Amino acid sequence: MKKDILSYTYEELQEEMEKIGEKAFRAKQIYEWLHVKLVDDFSQMSNLSKALREKLAEEFDICTVSPVERQQSKLDGTNKFLFCLHDGNMVESVLMRYKHGNSVCISSQVGCRMGCRFCASTLDGLARNLAPSEMLAQIYRIQKIIGERISHVVVMGTGEPLDNYDNFVKFIRMLTDEHGLHISQRNVTVSTCGIVPRIKELAEENLQITLALSLHGSTQEKRKELMPVANRYTLPEVLDACDEYFDRTGRRITFEYSLIDGVNDSDEDARELTAIARPRNCHINLIPVNPVKERDFEQPSRKNAMNFKNKLEKNGINVTIRREMGADIDGACGQLRRRYIE
Ligand code: SAH
Repeated sequence: MKKDILSYTYEELQEEMEKIGEKAFRAKQIYEWLHVKLVDDFSQMSNLSKALREKLAEEFDICTVSPVERQQSKLDGTNKFLFCLHDGNMVESVLMRYKHGNSVCISSQVGCRMGCRFCASTLDGLARNLAPSEMLAQIYRIQKIIGERISHVVVMGTGEPLDNYDNFVKFIRMLTDEHGLHISQRNVTVSTCGIVPRIKELAEENLQITLALSLHGSTQEKRKELMPVANRYTLPEVLDACDEYFDRTGRRITFEYSLIDGVNDSDEDARELTAIARPRNCHINLIPVNPVKERDFEQPSRKNAMNFKNKLEKNGINVTIRREMGADIDGACGQLRRRYIE
């Protein structure tokens, strides 16, 4: 199998060029073709000699993802893409258009093995990890399709990014590398179900990305009901790890909380959530749960959701209800892909 050139960092590409007897500055040219001009064919790299282009094509593949389906919201310009990978596996990515720029939500794995009860992405388990190139290619493809710059990235699609840690961190470094697309680290958010040792490791990477923790329950008992990962890492341990992330990076933590009717939306839940949020420099993102047909979780009424939000706000908590983007094309994360693999 040929080597995956889109997963080579700038430094690795320099080393690779030296190995095949090329000048190091070739790496700069090639990296720019791949990560700025976003070409997916060596023959288009017009400032390289024909001989070098041929040599590269013999040794390397340029990873691409191909759109199988694109759903466009008529309400707010949100687009959902189903992409096919080189081996026939499929992943979803979502484009959201905001006043402050174009944001893409990417998948980090094919499937997921975390087993969160309300989530469609985990129903068939984990198929495999995505390579750094496959995470980048989702963004590059969307940027090419719309012909506009992507300025924000959220790793909140299918998969647990910290369960694919090395590839994920490499992806972040490449995405934010000044030689590449150069997205600001502050415009990147990673969402995790709470793998404690990896959160701590991430805190030491010297990155400025935002950490979002999927909380969903404000006691250990409640959380365990919804998220099997809570059996491995308790709520106090997860919160400690988030505190460590904040101390090391200075980045305010986001807590995600899917509101589920009759499960985690009581006054008591609001009180316990307040107790978690109050001493911390954090933001709470309430997400009315997206019903998944295999599960019987439902959204609270709009009134109850607002009531829950107001309770937190009255206590000085920084809280938003996530604006529902693409409500008409939605279906929970992972549902578009599931239609195809069933
Ligand atoms: N594995 C990571 C990132 C992927 S999920 C994580 O767990 O954070 C992105 C967010 O969507 C998480 O907060 C997840 O809990 C939430 N989510 C998953 N399914 C959902 C659903 N059906 N309704 C609402 N939120 C959901």
